Amino acid sequence: MHTDIIVIGGGASGITAACEAKKTFPQAEVVICERLDRIGKKILSTGNGKCNLSNKFLESKNYHGSVNAMRYIAASPSAEEWFSEAGIICIADEQGRMYPYSGSAASVLNALRLRLKEHGVVEMCGFEVGDIAPDRNGYTITSADGRVVSCRRIIIAAGGYATPNMGTDGTMIRVLRGKGITSEKIVPAVAPLRVDAESVKGLKGVRAKCIVKASADGKVIREEKGEVQFTENSLSGICVFNMAYLFGEYGERLKLDLDLAPDMSESDIEAYLYTIIAQRSDCELNELLTGMFSKNLAVYLVKTTLRRAMTEPISGISGRDISALVKRIKNCSFSVTGTSSWQNAQATLGGIGADEITDELESRRFKGVYLCGEILDTVGDCGGYNLQWAWSSGLTAGRNCALSLKGELK
Ligand SMILES: Cc1cc2nc3c(=O)[nH]c(=O)nc-3n(C[C@H](O)[C@H](O)[C@H](O)COP(=O)(O)OP(=O)(O)OC[C@H]3O[C@@H](n4cnc5c(N)ncnc54)[C@H](O)[C@@H]3O)c2cc1C
Repeated sequence: MHTDIIVIGGGASGITAACEAKKTFPQAEVVICERLDRIGKKILSTGNGKCNLSNKFLESKNYHGSVNAMRYIAASPSAEEWFSEAGIICIADEQGRMYPYSGSAASVLNALRLRLKEHGVVEMCGFEVGDIAPDRNGYTITSADGRVVSCRRIIIAAGGYATPNMGTDGTMIRVLRGKGITSEKIVPAVAPLRVDAESVKGLKGVRAKCIVKASADGKVIREEKGEVQFTENSLSGICVFNMAYLFGEYGERLKLDLDLAPDMSESDIEAYLYTIIAQRSDCELNELLTGMFSKNLAVYLVKTTLRRAMTEPISGISGRDISALVKRIKNCSFSVTGTSSWQNAQATLGGIGADEITDELESRRFKGVYLCGEILDTVGDCGGYNLQWAWSSGLTAGRNCALSLKGELK
């Protein structure tokens, strides 16, 4: 089989790139090679099935990695504009997170598939690309089971390592490395952060509204307000997800400091504790923070700060104990030991870095090969930033790839 443009990977960026390539050069034949039995599986899981497809407030500070995502996003049509071409109406919530009006990721995928059909893009599912090699007319692509396709141009949109059960286990990054293309350090991002199990003993299932500060070497690197959820060996929740990429840089020097009472000052908490001590002097230490925190968190804080039997009476508590508790509530610190598994990560930090691509998202080593989406070294925060990158980079790669082919065939 010979074709004009092969898009490797039928995810968010690959679908967009294929549509844009066809729109730019309608005479070109565009084929999506997808290893799974259908395209767009990951899109269905995004935003808990609602597809948080972009954000109204897109800024450089929301992206991390060597590739300057905002540069491509700023140069592309907005999500509303692009999606309106596919008949998808976008609405934003009060935090700026954009969703389809349908509230359904399946409706986004269905509309995108209709768009592919309208453009005449061919979907070739069950085709896992195992190798690419330059040939006389462009490239030869070989599938993992030995089928061969040749094409003039390639767009690699095969994603990263996050959620391997959705087709993304880094295969294409390994293929490219085998061809001499370098990749930046790869780490799970938008993911829970692991901590020592002993340090969160008793907190499994607890959710706490707090301010989280990520710090390393005594310096605060990032601060977020939100809900933290505890498991038996990790901290999760959107604000923690947004800090996972920092593990790539700081490793086990990374700490998470939680202010568990962000709306109260130290003196407010102290005054509260003195009132409670007067009221509940006969009660056990177990009950000291009842009313301020959920049961498990209340017991955890008293137990791990005072290190006394929880059956002792509240009346035995000293001024020093109170100061220690206040400090702990305002700064409950956890040392990070790692990120979660790829299965629990929503995105990949690392991948093919800025040095390997041109401004047009073309490979510097392999002319006629374009890259887009999560395979490139940029990752966004939680809140629609990663899908926005997938759409914008897909548009850029699709357009530039088609333009270069059009120029060649003139
Ligand atoms: C559970 C979950 C929820 C998420 N929610 C959101 C959200 O609400 N908002 C947001 O902005 N981001 C979200 N993300 C992140 C977002 O989905 C991804 O960043 C985005 O889908 C990446 O798009 P992509 O096209 O680069 O890669 P992918 O969507 O991962 O697509 C890559 C495709 O390539 C295929 N492929 C891989 N290797 C090969 C090969 N060798 N041959 C052929 N095909 C191959 C894969 O099967 C896959 O279909 C979420 C991620 C997850 C896992």
